[in-house]
Amino acid sequence: MRLHGCHPDPFHAVASPVAHTLAGFWTFLLLTARSKLLLIAACVRYLPQLILLVLLANLPDIDFLFGLGDRANWDAFHHGFTHSFVAAFVVAFAVTCVWRMAGSFWRSFSLCFLAYSSHLLIDFFTGTKLGWNSTGSGIPLLWPLAKEFGSPLILVVGVKHKDFPALFSLANLQSSLYELLVFGVFTAALLVAWLRHQKSRGVSHQPQTPARAVYNSNSMQSNERIP
Ligand SMILES: [Zn+2]
Repeated sequence: MRLHGCHPDPFHAVASPVAHTLAGFWTFLLLTARSKLLLIAACVRYLPQLILLVLLANLPDIDFLFGLGDRANWDAFHHGFTHSFVAAFVVAFAVTCVWRMAGSFWRSFSLCFLAYSSHLLIDFFTGTKLGWNSTGSGIPLLWPLAKEFGSPLILVVGVKHKDFPALFSLANLQSSLYELLVFGVFTAALLVAWLRHQKSRGVSHQPQTPARAVYNSNSMQSNERIP
């Protein structure tokens, strides 16, 4: 693990919302793993939970907005305290106090914390070049300690958004497509595991006849509840 005393490069390469949004969806799969609903039905039934988890997975980058007034560098305030475990704990705790999205307090808190922390994990492994090269800009995982942490192994090529030309560059498009491919494959693998788990619980994912669909729909409405 590499420690940073300060940013070697004021312009960060960061994972795009593509990666973070898919990671938020992974926590939604965790939430619904014990559900007896089909995937589409689960997404519809628990849409507020899905939206919240995806928002939490992207939330640490809200500090990017603080720098938009800086003409020289939109990244001026990026990778600040929102990229820390303290922020993950506080946000997860606050959200769970307002809404226990998964039934019990601690299950709801854990899912919120996981969704938020997935962002930190992805940024930890993000840099400007794939491989063992320590090109990540580092994040203050243990804020309020000033130390910044970045993996020497870079698994995600980040996008740059120091200004408009950088944001809409070909390099950023390539990075986003890479994320879509890699995180998409991982999401597909998790979906297969999710479907197998559902199947083991007796949930059929076969095409339904109209009569079967009505039966399943009635069954879901009477039985389904966040475990
Ligand atoms: Zn970030």
